[in-house]
Parts: sequence; structure tokens; C-alpha cells
Amino acid sequence: DWLKDAAVQRVFELLNADGGEGRVVGGAVRNALMAIPISDIDFATTNPPEEVMARAKHAGIKAVPTGFDHGTVTLVIDGRGFEVTTLRKDVETDGRRAKVSFGRDWQEDAERRDFTINALYATADGTVIDLIDGLKDIESRTLRFIGDAASRIAEDYLRVLRFFRFFAYYGVGRPDADGLRACARAKDRLDTLSAERVWSELRKLLAAPDPSRALLWMRTSGVLTAVLPESEKWGIDAIHGLIAAEQSLGWSPDALVRLAAIIPPQAERIDSLSQRLRLSKAESEQLLKFASAPAISADTAGAALDRMLYRHGPTGILTRLKLSLASARAQAVENDEQMVKAARFDALLKRAQAFTRPVFPIGGADVIALGVKPGPKVGEVLGRLEDSWIERNFTEDRAALTARLQDVVSKLD
Ligand code: ATP
Ligand code: MG
Repeated sequence: DWLKDAAVQRVFELLNADGGEGRVVGGAVRNALMAIPISDIDFATTNPPEEVMARAKHAGIKAVPTGFDHGTVTLVIDGRGFEVTTLRKDVETDGRRAKVSFGRDWQEDAERRDFTINALYATADGTVIDLIDGLKDIESRTLRFIGDAASRIAEDYLRVLRFFRFFAYYGVGRPDADGLRACARAKDRLDTLSAERVWSELRKLLAAPDPSRALLWMRTSGVLTAVLPESEKWGIDAIHGLIAAEQSLGWSPDALVRLAAIIPPQAERIDSLSQRLRLSKAESEQLLKFASAPAISADTAGAALDRMLYRHGPTGILTRLKLSLASARAQAVENDEQMVKAARFDALLKRAQAFTRPVFPIGGADVIALGVKPGPKVGEVLGRLEDSWIERNFTEDRAALTARLQDVVSKLD
């Protein structure tokens, strides 16, 4: 039982002393009630942040003021971090992020949260406290804004994306009609949000076990185009096929491969997306590798694929092959031609996954040993020899290449 865990109980003991109180809130309670694995355990408390810091210091627990101004202190116990946040209520807002003040009122703390399923509390003995009628929405898996959807969105437009994110993970059937309508109406205000907050929500949405239904509703409501203008209409079908392939072939979900499925592989679009949403360098490089990867058809020969892998590296090519395979599989029902294509892409993907890049066995010293003066010519000779070695599918060893080296050098004069 996750609440009986010693570290969790230590947090409760710390917060529940001297007239203070702490409760677990948000994702942990929600997931536990839905019997879904819990990621982090967050606490809400009546104690002000200075008090949490002081108590932790006294108890010899490491405390880091990770968001002190909005009341968050992270306690570190047995190497695990627990975010403890003082009860808050919204006082004003600019639509970019709600401004809060500290309080001691659990009802107010619940009401300023976004969705009913996110505003349930658990006490140390496992009692669930439901102040906003969230339990019934947990049971029916309904994602519902607390209070009036439109006004809650106007306080913080990120809630539009959170709506689709949580729908992707927990929703069933159609999204709540009021919530969906309010999200659709707010779509033109999303550009006021910071890139970091938007991308962080989108990344989580894309990493959901199956984000395709949420993305479909984002498209129908116009939110997808507002937040990802680079995406294409066919992207929804593509992601559908990708998820089906992931599930039946056991591919691990990857938010960036899913993103690649809904945008065309064009460097300009990927550049604009990376800059607008401030993707990390590694993320934008992964997408650019995909965009610049050579086109691979179902009839591409295995040896030709090896050459592409040698020249381009595996990252973008693997994504290309996965998407091509997923698309062929999706169309393969009662279509023999696509079935054949799917089998070919499957073989190419397996070959690409098994490919280890051979090491070119000749170096600059070998060229210089033949009397070429150190300088740009050495690189040119090496480049030509390497090209022909690739064209011959890496079959020549060092001896064979050394024998040809003299030839390449003399031809260059
Ligand atoms: P996850 O499993 O993704 O961590 P979570 O529900 O814990 O899910 P967080 O983003 O960690 O989500 O937020 C913790 C809690 O804080 C939420 O459950 C919700 O009650 C509240 N919350 C977070 N962001 C907002 C927001 N923008 N507006 C209102 N409430 C929010
Ligand atoms: Mg959380």
C-alpha cells in the first residue's frame, strides 16, 4: 500500500504535528483510485513554507525550496522527493498563470485546482476526502473542470492543453461537452503562454499510452492547429496507425516519434516548431534527423539501406521506417499491395535495428605514407576511397583498401 510506505508516513508525521495538517493530493490520489501506477506523491499542507522548512531542518530531513514563492518545498527522504505545497487560493490572474495566496482552507485549495479528478485528497490513514464531487468522475472517467470551464480557462490558458492531456490518459468516450466547447473558444489565446509550459504539456500528452483520441478532439476543436500549426490533417491517421503498430509490435512509446508522425518531414517546419516551442537541443536534433533522412521506399535494397545508415546514422531512418511500416500496416487490411509493403518495411526495419556501423579501416597516415603531403588532399583521397568502399558495401578489408589506395592517389593528380 503506497500510503503505508515509511517515507510517505514520515512526511505526514512532519506535517501533522502542532496543529498543522498535510494530505496527499492530485495525481497520486487520482491514479491510486483508478488503480494506475503512481509517479510522484505531492502533498498539500496548512503549514506555511517557512514552517515546513523549519520542521524539516529540525527533523534532519533535507528540504529544498523548489518553488518557495508559490509555497512549494521539496522534502527528500530515502532519495525520493516529495513536493509539499501550502494551501492556496487564486487571488488574481493574467491568463498566463494564476496568482495565488496562502491560506488554511481545504475547500478553497480544492476549488482552485483544474479538474475534479485532480482535487481529491488522502490523509495518512488512507481516507479519501472529496470536496468537489470528484469521486463520481473518477468512477466514470470523466474529465470535468472545477466550476465554470470558460472562466477557469481564462485564469490560465494552459488548462486547455491539460484538458486534452488528462483526457488522453484517463478519458473514455467523448470529452465533456462544456469543457470541449470552452477549450475550442479559447484556442486563440494559447499563444500568450510560455513555450516551456506548452511544450511540457504537449510532450506529456504525446507520451500517453494512446494519445490519438485526444489529438483527434484537439484537431476537431481547432486547438491542434493553434498549438501545432505545423501538423497535418493526415497526422491523426498516421498516429493512429503508429499506436496500433506500437501495440502489436511492442515498440516503446516515444513522444518525439509520435510528433514526427503528425508533421511532414520538412526541415523548415521542424525548425520553426523547435524554436517556437523551445525544444531541447537533443529533441530538435532528433526531429531534424528525421526530416533530413533519405526517403526509403518498400523496394529499397538491404545493401542500399546499409549505405544510408552508414552515411546518415540510425536515428532519423528508424523513425522513417517505423512510420512507413505503421502506415502500410494500417492500410493492409484487404489490400495485398500494402500487405507486401508492410512485410518489406518490417524486414528493412529489422535490418536497420541490427545494423552496426562498420569502421573505415584506412586513415590519414596511410595516405601520407604514400607520399601525399599533409593537407586538404589527404581528406579528399580518404573521402573518395571511403565512398567507393561504401558503394562496395563495406566488403573490402584493410589490405584490399590499401591496394586500391595507390590507384586513388594517382588518379587525383
Ligand atoms: P502527473 O501524474 O502528470 O504528475 P498531476 O495531477 O500530479 O499529474 P501536476 O501537473 O503534477 O499533475 O499538478 C499537480 C496538481 O496541481 C494537479 O493534480 C492539480 O490539482 C494542480 N494543478 C497543476 N497545474 C494546474 C493548473 N495549471 N491549474 C490548476 N491546477 C493545477
Ligand atoms: Mg504531479
